[in-house]
Amino acid sequence: MEGVTRESMRPLLDLQRVDSGIDRLNQRKADLPEQRELDELNEQRSVLAVSNAEAQASLDSVAREQTKLETEIQQIDDKVTHEQGRLYSGEVSNPKELSNIQAELDALRRRKSYLEDEELEVMERREGVEKEHGDLFAAMADLDSKIADATQRRDHASVEISEELTRLAAERAQLVPTIHPEVLALYEDIRARRGGIAVGALVDGTCRACGLPLSPMQRDEIKRSDEPIIRCENCRRLLVIPEG
Ligand SMILES: [Zn+2]
Repeated sequence: MEGVTRESMRPLLDLQRVDSGIDRLNQRKADLPEQRELDELNEQRSVLAVSNAEAQASLDSVAREQTKLETEIQQIDDKVTHEQGRLYSGEVSNPKELSNIQAELDALRRRKSYLEDEELEVMERREGVEKEHGDLFAAMADLDSKIADATQRRDHASVEISEELTRLAAERAQLVPTIHPEVLALYEDIRARRGGIAVGALVDGTCRACGLPLSPMQRDEIKRSDEPIIRCENCRRLLVIPEG
């Protein structure tokens, strides 16, 4: 990598310190009892939201059923009015035809009575679903206010942590531009794969990241060359030689 020297690797030690600090603070933030309470409440809420959506769907379906029945009953009423009009208008005098109209009217009334029973049953079901939906809605509103309360308490508890995180983020933002982009990418990659620690200081021939001494061979190699990218032979993390 062009322009990368052992000296230019040094800010990595600061970056590691800052990133480890950020990780620790985020961990502490996640472990706050208020946060755990909040996670639990949010989980309950998502379960309720699913039930609520299901209840809403049942409600829509039962309402559609009722509308359909009402429409059909209305159509029958219209037909009855029409047939009765013909029956009493005096226009029809043929006895056969008159008795046909009467039979049609009887059939329509039977059908209507059947549909009205159906509608009654649908309305009862609708009442049940509406009650369930209402209860769920109330339970969700109750949870929402608990969530708001827990969020406030969580935020209050984590204010100190958040301030420290902001400070570290600012420090990080200053460090990053001083590091070669490819070195930074390598750092991030190792950090992701090695438990958040990508860099160890090389002090007295020992990698401070894993605590193991380097072999005389690697120490020799480091001394003889000025290769800036050195990986600990034990833990494969980047080794940085601190100033002085
Ligand atoms: Zn090591």
